[in-house]
Amino acid sequence: MSDREFDLAIVGAGPAGLTAALYAGRNLMKAVVLEAKGPGGQLLNTELIEDYPGLKSVLGGDLAAVMVDQATSFGTEIATASVEKIHVDEDGNKVITTDDGEFRAPAVLITAGGNPRKLDVPGEIEYAGRGVSYCAVCDGAFFKDQHLAVIGGGDAAVEEALFLTRYASKVTLIHRRDEFRAQAVMLEELRSHPKVEIILNTVVDSIEGDGKVTHMMLSNAQTGEKSKLEVGGIFIFVGFIPNTQLVDTHVDHDAAGYYNVDPQTMMTNIPGIFAAGDVRAQLTRQITTAVGDATTATIAAGKWVEEFRKQHSKLEAGA
Ligand SMILES: Cc1cc2nc3c(=O)[nH]c(=O)nc-3n(C[C@H](O)[C@H](O)[C@H](O)COP(=O)(O)OP(=O)(O)OC[C@H]3O[C@@H](n4cnc5c(N)ncnc54)[C@H](O)[C@@H]3O)c2cc1C
Repeated sequence: MSDREFDLAIVGAGPAGLTAALYAGRNLMKAVVLEAKGPGGQLLNTELIEDYPGLKSVLGGDLAAVMVDQATSFGTEIATASVEKIHVDEDGNKVITTDDGEFRAPAVLITAGGNPRKLDVPGEIEYAGRGVSYCAVCDGAFFKDQHLAVIGGGDAAVEEALFLTRYASKVTLIHRRDEFRAQAVMLEELRSHPKVEIILNTVVDSIEGDGKVTHMMLSNAQTGEKSKLEVGGIFIFVGFIPNTQLVDTHVDHDAAGYYNVDPQTMMTNIPGIFAAGDVRAQLTRQITTAVGDATTATIAAGKWVEEFRKQHSKLEAGA
């Protein structure tokens, strides 16, 4: 095997990819993790984690550092490389094209997570980084004592709105429906928070300012009534777009683009291409589900690679 050939290539070093690296290393597979940025994935955007079993309360960055240390201690390499394309060659091997050249492996595990969905309103792109943010943990501290708006109705919006109350003078959560998808416990905490106001049935028409955000224009989704809300910052949490565009052939996915996998193995409909964590279709996306998926996927991929190599040696012997 050349130094660019592996048993398993893992795309992304978030909790799923790092778990895969750990299991691959312990199972003595020759594996590589290809990570576009620094390892840690969304853990690096999360301040406090209180729902990871065994650690009552841990900072996202600290959990990422421990996961990286543990994963690499069993020999799996983490390479800085952004994956651009995954191609299945005529022998069933996978050719992974990155900004740092090609890698090859019979099995690929995609753990590439997702990116924040945009609101797609005027001013959003113009004011990104100048008042518009998709990461409260990264940017919240820049908005001390300001009135902030949070857009969205899921777990991330509610969690981040609560987080922002540490810095903001007031947090207004704007949701386009009258019901939330967020967990009831967090929602109750948000509703009873003295700094929080919730505006329902309301959509953002535009984000405006004078070089940095000063206000947003809103419409009531039911009556069409327009209003202006003066804010110093706008945090948008309206979902994620999964990074599932890398394979150059059709991979089964749901309506939102998340990979459909066999729950027993995490394998997609393409033999040897596995998916785990936030890229796969499932009820919830958490650190625990990401690490669980990756455990299953890596063990299944190990068995799959063994079988793949057996079949190939038989074919070569018979040729
Ligand atoms: C703000 C926030 C707070 C959260 N809080 C919690 C919490 O308290 N508890 C909890 O359990 N969960 C929480 N979550 C969810 C949790 O972080 C995710 O479910 C988990 O990180 C998913 O892990 P993953 O490995 O699948 O993906 P990610 O963590 O997204 O990691 C994906 C990795 O793949 C890399 N990548 C992407 N594309 C490529 C490419 N083309 N080439 C190479 N690398 C690539 C990315 O750079 C990234 O490092 C939170 C999420 C957010 C956004």
